[in-house]
Amino acid sequence: MQARIIMLVDLDYFYAQCEEKRNPSLQGKPVVVCVYSGRTEDSGAVSTANYIARRYGVKSGIPISLAKKKLKDIDSVFLPVDHEFYREVSEKVMEILRSHADEFEQVGIDEAYMDVTQGTRGSYEEAKELAARIKKDVWTQQKLTCSIGVGPNKLVAKIAADIQKPDGLTLIEAGEVGRFLSPLPVSRLVGVGRKTEKKMETLGIRTVGDLARFDVQRLVEVFGRKLGTYFHNASLGIDDEPVQERGEAESLSRISTLKENTRELAVILEEAEKLCDEVYARLLRRGLSFRSVSILVVATDLSVYSRSKTIENPTKELEVFKKTVRELFAKFLSESDVEARRVGVKVSNLAKEEEKQKQLTNFFG
Ligand SMILES: [Mg+2]
Repeated sequence: MQARIIMLVDLDYFYAQCEEKRNPSLQGKPVVVCVYSGRTEDSGAVSTANYIARRYGVKSGIPISLAKKKLKDIDSVFLPVDHEFYREVSEKVMEILRSHADEFEQVGIDEAYMDVTQGTRGSYEEAKELAARIKKDVWTQQKLTCSIGVGPNKLVAKIAADIQKPDGLTLIEAGEVGRFLSPLPVSRLVGVGRKTEKKMETLGIRTVGDLARFDVQRLVEVFGRKLGTYFHNASLGIDDEPVQERGEAESLSRISTLKENTRELAVILEEAEKLCDEVYARLLRRGLSFRSVSILVVATDLSVYSRSKTIENPTKELEVFKKTVRELFAKFLSESDVEARRVGVKVSNLAKEEEKQKQLTNFFG
């Protein structure tokens, strides 16, 4: 497989940070976001605490009453979770991230993997610039900090993001993976919970390096073939899992980097139409029609522009898709002096054709 560059972007102490964003006067105080169970005034558990509260030992999962004890006589703030607000903020951030990814996979309200191999031309130098740019965009547009890990696969990117928080940026190139993972405790690996950790300890395995040196046959005997093999590979930083969109997509998009920066319509359209073909193939496979078409341009300074058009009736016509894309790019270039580095196309307002199909089947059935 071709060498990849994968990023994990993790928004820091997300719920509590959303509250600080909404109400900047909270900054500098311990902020504790709680799930109240409603039985008594303080029954329930802490969902997320900001870093100041964490210094007092307040963390996710502890009872609210205990958190209040730890923060006794300290000017602190306790708030109920507001999922709707966090989801709204999350969507805006994900939109920013998506615009910088070849492939994108959201893995929770505050985390996403990005395959940036193509966009960075496989260069860690460029990946570092891109990560810095993403941190800056998320900060200036949403007033949130995030931690980013960059590595040759999802496993390494995830651990790299966790190692330096908050507001961290950690790059681990393929050649550094062994040295990076080796001293870490095995609990850093996804899938190693407290029980597994204990079991490994009885085998003399404490660090990822210990695990890497441990006989793989014996691992399989103790943990079974699937897990044993997984632990062995994970300890060596081996992970081939692709970055891919999960679940039912609300939109389908494709972005690519131009061979050269340009603002020449013909060159841009040549690339864009290729992208249309790719997106269209995915639409067909899922039997979806679309109503909205968007284009995206990442400029040479990495600023992002998008334009959209919604048509009256849902359609499955490739030619409608391409024609709309051509119009949008032509209009965009005539209105701006932006030079494009990357271009993308997107369809949204997707719908399944099932209904019509069902009616026909019933009719002939
Ligand atoms: Mg987070």
